[in-house]
Amino acid sequence: RNQIHPKWYIRCVLLLVAVLHTRYHVSFRACALILVCMETIFMGLPGNLLGPRQMPLTLGTTFSHMGLQDDKFTLHIVCPECHQLFPRTIDSATRCPECTVDLFAPAKQQLFQAVVATVTGNRQPPSRKPHLVAPIQLLSDGLRDLFQRPGMLSAMNLWKVRHQVEGESRSIQDGEVWNTIKDHNGHKFFFAPGCENEIRLGVSFSLDWFGRKTSNFGPSHSSGVMSF
Ligand SMILES: [Zn+2]
Repeated sequence: RNQIHPKWYIRCVLLLVAVLHTRYHVSFRACALILVCMETIFMGLPGNLLGPRQMPLTLGTTFSHMGLQDDKFTLHIVCPECHQLFPRTIDSATRCPECTVDLFAPAKQQLFQAVVATVTGNRQPPSRKPHLVAPIQLLSDGLRDLFQRPGMLSAMNLWKVRHQVEGESRSIQDGEVWNTIKDHNGHKFFFAPGCENEIRLGVSFSLDWFGRKTSNFGPSHSSGVMSF
């Protein structure tokens, strides 16, 4: 419980916004407003009610503290013209060296920021937001994360001892590709000499962008990046 937050009343607030969002579809911004208001109240009351640890002020951080969100994606800034990727840490005045277009939109005070500034009295100048961003997780990072999960290693090898029925196709291991695909030496990839002592991973890609959604970063289209 202390991992969520050491103060019990702050844990209650975090639980409240988590339930409001997941059960009653209260938006991310509304949840953030509740969190900012509650933090302002705690700061204004006598005594150090917040304690040494900062209170989460967004729903994403709340889920992360509660162990409910564990995505490993890294946001990259994307040039809206040539789609070149840039690290998230670049200065907001940066232009794409190829197209010389601005990577960030002009600073604009959002209504939500104005409300937060009014509530907290903390008036920050509006920041510039990138025109386009892309969440990326490298395959190597994903595999490392996968193998660190308990039981994954033995699960990877289960197919080697599974019972196969002649003439029946029950899994991907019964398919033609699995049984014929070659490795770089020309041996069968999953049945090469010595492969019983190593793990050979077949990687397949699938893509489903049917559920198109727009956002501030992609107002007229959805985007994704895939390398193979
Ligand atoms: Zn560019």
